Amino acid sequence: MLDVIKPATPIAPSLDEKALARALSGRHFIGGRFVAPLSGGTFAVVNPATGIEVGHAADGDAADVDVAVLDAARAQKEWAKMPARKRGALVAKCAAVIREHVEELARLIALETGKALRTESRVEANTVADVLEFFGGLGSELKGESVPFAPGVLSVTVREPLGVVGAIIPWNVPLLLMSLKIAPALVAGNTIVVKSAEEAPLTVLRICELMARVLPAGCFNMLSGFGPECGGPLVAHPLVRKVTFTGSVEVGRIIARAAAEKLIPTTLELGGKSPMLVFADCDFEKTVTGAVTSMRFTRQGQSCTAASRIYVERAIFDRFVAAVGDRVDAMVMGDPLDEKTDIGTMISAEQFGKVRGFIEEGQATQGATGRACSRLPDDPALSKGLFIQPYIFTGLPDDSRLVRQEIFGPVTCVFPFDDVEAVLAEANDSEYGLAASVWTNNLKVGLDLAHRLEAGLVQINQNLVVQANLSYGGVKSSGLGKEASLESMLEHFMHKKTIMVNYS
Ligand code: ADP
Ligand code: MG
Repeated sequence: MLDVIKPATPIAPSLDEKALARALSGRHFIGGRFVAPLSGGTFAVVNPATGIEVGHAADGDAADVDVAVLDAARAQKEWAKMPARKRGALVAKCAAVIREHVEELARLIALETGKALRTESRVEANTVADVLEFFGGLGSELKGESVPFAPGVLSVTVREPLGVVGAIIPWNVPLLLMSLKIAPALVAGNTIVVKSAEEAPLTVLRICELMARVLPAGCFNMLSGFGPECGGPLVAHPLVRKVTFTGSVEVGRIIARAAAEKLIPTTLELGGKSPMLVFADCDFEKTVTGAVTSMRFTRQGQSCTAASRIYVERAIFDRFVAAVGDRVDAMVMGDPLDEKTDIGTMISAEQFGKVRGFIEEGQATQGATGRACSRLPDDPALSKGLFIQPYIFTGLPDDSRLVRQEIFGPVTCVFPFDDVEAVLAEANDSEYGLAASVWTNNLKVGLDLAHRLEAGLVQINQNLVVQANLSYGGVKSSGLGKEASLESMLEHFMHKKTIMVNYS
């Protein structure tokens, strides 16, 4: 199909997110330039706060995947020859370009995902620059070791890149989660093909274009499309030598099976049902604030590390539940692009329906109480927006679907507890093991629990999101492998070769 004429993307940072969305519409980014999908197909990108279509994305399939992967494979040969510190310096230079465009990227991601600008979108765009800067400085850390094998034999290991990396990303924090994959992959000497999420294809495409101002053509390629039709062929492509995926457990299993056919390594960052344990001796106000942050309600709970099960020692249970509810109640729900807004929208009608289903089930459960917090916006322009009032449930039975399953919405279940061993057992009684937090001023109790909680990340008296330099990744059904750290780059984007020299 002929590349239809579209408005060119702006060189300077743009604060007109609607014009930018239109300019980015209908194209992949392959080999250093925008290209139309071979099939000619596109799908709509909708602003979830208004229901209005803001652009359209290229509907990629196996043919586009093949073009992108071949390009990435060509580029990889040269990229890997570049001194590692120079690769790192280029990635750090990308960080500087992203920094200049933070406001632009924040507005665009707010437009396509409904995430509030002040509380979520701007924070995310800044973190991308931070992650690129961090990994950009690690070029000289790609070290191997020497092994004392025998006299007269020098035995060393060297780390080498894997080749072309396929990355499949979700819609909830697409910029940040993508940066955790592309930055270490590139610094390690791989090239990369990203398949964006159907719901959020435009801002990541802009990032790819911005980084292409710095990187050699073909090092970083971006495809949009649907999971089975575009993500599937990417995982299956013979030249893709590593897959890194963030998304649902169900799709994680599909990807792991496909990767097993090719015997390639995978990193999987999947769901969570993260517990928060609150003791009566905690710093009460700090912990209430911590709970509000932990629930990730500013992102409508669309977070894998959201504290979706909160266990509170009985002595402070009622007071704590009331205080947290009052705080959430005071949060402002509204236009994601308005600076006053704390809470934006759900991502899609599908997620909206799913989360409403959980809430209705909670409300219909005997003995359970759900407090609806905050208020739906009354602006008529937002009447079709996917806004949901956050819910805090108490009195749910242990086997409720709301307690067992990942809701990925603004719903938290709170329970009282009396006994440390019993609450630890409850916290660990989950298919998931991504994150957990413990709130107490008794460090003996806190550290003991930190060691015994089944989770990839345990925090005491805080619950931050992913940070550069700290390994992130779950156990049990929450995933395989780590991201965000030096270790993640060395272990998951490189392999070690042994070289022996007999000089005797
Ligand atoms: P959600 O259901 O919340 O969208 P998914 O795990 O389905 O989460 O999606 C995460 C990413 O995985 C998206 O980019 C999606 O397109 C992709 N995906 C979905 N199904 C497949 C599949 N069968 N093969 C490869 N990628 C897939
Ligand atoms: Mg899906």
